[in-house]
Amino acid sequence: MRAGGPDEKDGPVERVPSPSRLRHPDRSVPELRAQLVDLLCDRAPADARAALSFGAAIDHLTGTVYGSAPLWGDEAVPYDVAAELRRRRPDVTWQLVNDVTAALLDFAAVHAGPEVRRVAYLTVSSGVALRTADLERRRIPVDGQGLQGEVGHLPVPLTDPGADVLAGLPCECGARDHVASIASGPGLVRVADRLGLSRPAEVADWLPAALAAKNQGAQRLLELCAAPVAHLLRTLWCLDPHLDLVGIGGGVTEGLAGHYAAEIRRRLAAATSYADRGRDDEWLDGRLLFCAPGQVDPLRGAQRVGDWLPGITR
Ligand SMILES: [Zn+2]
Repeated sequence: MRAGGPDEKDGPVERVPSPSRLRHPDRSVPELRAQLVDLLCDRAPADARAALSFGAAIDHLTGTVYGSAPLWGDEAVPYDVAAELRRRRPDVTWQLVNDVTAALLDFAAVHAGPEVRRVAYLTVSSGVALRTADLERRRIPVDGQGLQGEVGHLPVPLTDPGADVLAGLPCECGARDHVASIASGPGLVRVADRLGLSRPAEVADWLPAALAAKNQGAQRLLELCAAPVAHLLRTLWCLDPHLDLVGIGGGVTEGLAGHYAAEIRRRLAAATSYADRGRDDEWLDGRLLFCAPGQVDPLRGAQRVGDWLPGITR
């Protein structure tokens, strides 16, 4: 949350961990929701404008949250966080933005030049999600629920040779065989476990060095976890040739850095059919940007959403 006085553009930034299911698996969803609202209401200064970057599937037009696997597990009953905040602290102007949308707005503002027609940001982190903005029309199209790009909870294709060993892996949303079952941070741990590699709690620490040492198991793990993301990018460019720039960020991307970028690019370079002839370095250099830690700031993006609200349309 970034909160400032009514006329402040750049209020102070305070980072506090959210009361999430991931951090507190013992607490019920109503408890976690109440604690989140309490935390936000306690921290917002009087008469502030508060911009919230929120890690959840959220209706941008109302502030209703449909679900958040990291925050609330498989809870599927929608919760109107914005209405509750406005009821409790009517003096504060609350602006809730999905964290991926906020990241996209910041990424687009910093990296999209005047030639970019559509821009997307993909996060590979505790979850996997994508947002796309149409810069020509200054729009972020959303569906009837005010959502867009919740790609982590699409079924995952297991087309790599030997990838069937991953069949049935769970997703944080409660289903199985989703993109996030395999490609997310927790997915990486599940895949390592299924492959019999390392102890799952140590995967994030072990993997970068193991990849640098050309450990075969580590390389296999990277290949399997990057495959759904490369498939997603391939599909995006097939459906939208005017998608001129895609940023990839999030903890997995940042943690594996050059190894991850090289694997995604290797996969995108491969031709899969007469219609998908592969993409060379020159093509990818201009269109795919792997973000370093801190390069994209969702809080800065959340502050920009006011300019975009008229363009977030069903
Ligand atoms: Zn899922």
